[in-house]
Amino acid sequence: MINPWDGLVELREIGEFGLIARIRNRLPAYLPRVFQGIGDDAAIASLSPGNDLVSTVDLMVEEVHFNLALTSAHLLGRKSLAVNLSDMAAMGARPRFALISLALPARIRVESVDEFYLGFLEMAEAHGVSLIGGDTSFSPDRLFISVTLLGEGKKEILVCRHGARPGDDLYVTGTLGDSLLGLSLARTLQGKSPLPDEKYLLEKHFNPIPRVQEGLALAEKGLATAMIDVSDGLFSDLRHICEESRVGATVFAQRIPQSNAFQSLSPALGRSGWQSAVRGGEDYELLFSAPPQKASEVMALARQWECGVTCIGKVEPISHGIIIRDEQGQVGPELLKGFDHFAAWEQN
Ligand code: ADP
Ligand code: MG
Repeated sequence: MINPWDGLVELREIGEFGLIARIRNRLPAYLPRVFQGIGDDAAIASLSPGNDLVSTVDLMVEEVHFNLALTSAHLLGRKSLAVNLSDMAAMGARPRFALISLALPARIRVESVDEFYLGFLEMAEAHGVSLIGGDTSFSPDRLFISVTLLGEGKKEILVCRHGARPGDDLYVTGTLGDSLLGLSLARTLQGKSPLPDEKYLLEKHFNPIPRVQEGLALAEKGLATAMIDVSDGLFSDLRHICEESRVGATVFAQRIPQSNAFQSLSPALGRSGWQSAVRGGEDYELLFSAPPQKASEVMALARQWECGVTCIGKVEPISHGIIIRDEQGQVGPELLKGFDHFAAWEQN
């Protein structure tokens, strides 16, 4: 009998983004009322003139995205909404409603589910989001959490990945690499109580703050030409902007923002320098482009933000490719690789 799940191409050969491209290519070229479909942080669809629906969904899988031995149910609840809020922020949209689906193994305790919702609803309230539904299933082995977030905006001011133009400056909010360092640290702490710098890094990984107000302000003031949230590593996410905008980029390695905690604790964990800061993922900072004429406006706006902003490079013509420069000159392209689910699976 022919196995209907047979085929020649293994997922690891095309990778996560190859798979998404394959799905995207199956869609008709025109989808009614869809302004931005697959290929951005969130989709934009028109409901009525002047009011556009922005939607995004994320799936978190136990042992892939989180480990129950390292995080609490409360923080997991917060983070499962925060990662969606970060995608909403990257569009410059206002989050409104959430739906959540859980697939739960029978070993999970009811009190932990209560704690999870306490965290989730705390994050929801902080961003004016109402939980309006979801779905629940048994899972034989691992815990699965999928959150759908719906928001609103006007397509004329929402910021997609495809608007970067050669000559634009490239900016990133906050600092990079803290989250991945926080995760490495959590694996070494083994119950010891953390010192202040350690606590900072752990918070960055287990309790990230989505840049919702920052994304909204950049969109409302018309400053950003393209925007993405940094979830897979700076260069992986920059590549998405470059591909969608059909441009290249130069990034100055020495400008990549690192926190004091990162600088003081990364050497001991064998992860120092900008290379480690960009290799990370799960930073949930915003990477955006803006025309050089808007530089002073961007900096003035960012003075109101606790997270700050750093200009890390420039958008270039497509023929330039994506280039990283450090003090010695140009850096090899191997660092341009970010997190890919199926490539990570191969490494395991
Ligand atoms: P992000 O990291 O910002 O959440 P992803 O890399 O997960 O973005 O997704 C990129 C784009 O591909 C998004 O538009 C998303 O909706 C779409 N996408 C991802 N997985 C699938 C899938 N299995 N089927 C259809 N679209 C998908
Ligand atoms: Mg994203």
